[in-house]
Amino acid sequence: MRDFLVAGNWKMNGSTAANTELVAGIVAGVPAGSGFSLLVCPPFPYLASVVAQAAGSAVKVGAQNVSEHEKGAFTGEVAPSMLADIGCDYVIIGHSERRALYGETSAQVAAKFLAAQAAGITPILCLGESLAEREAGTTEAVIDEQLDAVLEAAGVDAFAHAVIAYEPVWAIGTGMTASPEQAQDVHRHIRGRLAAQNENIAAGVQILYGGSMKGENAAGLLGQPDIDGGLIGGASLKADDFLAIAKAAAGLK
Ligand code: PEP
Repeated sequence: MRDFLVAGNWKMNGSTAANTELVAGIVAGVPAGSGFSLLVCPPFPYLASVVAQAAGSAVKVGAQNVSEHEKGAFTGEVAPSMLADIGCDYVIIGHSERRALYGETSAQVAAKFLAAQAAGITPILCLGESLAEREAGTTEAVIDEQLDAVLEAAGVDAFAHAVIAYEPVWAIGTGMTASPEQAQDVHRHIRGRLAAQNENIAAGVQILYGGSMKGENAAGLLGQPDIDGGLIGGASLKADDFLAIAKAAAGLK
């Protein structure tokens, strides 16, 4: 009942020339069939040009971050309404790099989630534990704290218009992918926590896996019952690598 979403987080990579080539390659190679969507998330300066290049194709565009404020004296920030204005559909919220490097708290992540939805942008809420937290056996407690902050601020109904990405921090950019079983355990836990409040919402929400996903391991991860796509970093920067994951998703539908 849930479609796959294969999303690329380009992080702080790209240039006008490189992006044009990458988007052209992705648009030209989108696998045939339905039941999955493709999304690319470029850095802010390139959003509008990628929106224009992807217009009319099967590729949607999202941002990597957004302000929790609507407008005003917030130098360097970008408002959710600005993302909507230029045609963004999604925004990544609470990526572990934002939490770790820029000190984003779960409360701030929740505020960004609310602000994005208020502007009509679908938030992709990132949750994930560090290696030390996994080894200490606190994975579920960490996920619960991150998820509950948003549930308390926005309510479970808000997840009818949101995506969740489970991204174990130890798997991001390290080449150490969670096994399909490790990922499925956490995805099942996340869906169960939502189901305790609303079974229909829980059954409908897309939960993506992120952390060194690539063509070779995508089918195993995407074949798990609670994994509904991927949030892809490194492998989203080359059209063939990204499309290999999209093809794995298309092959499972
Ligand atoms: C990410 O940054 O969200 C990510 C999953 O990166 P990578 O695929 O490179 O691990």
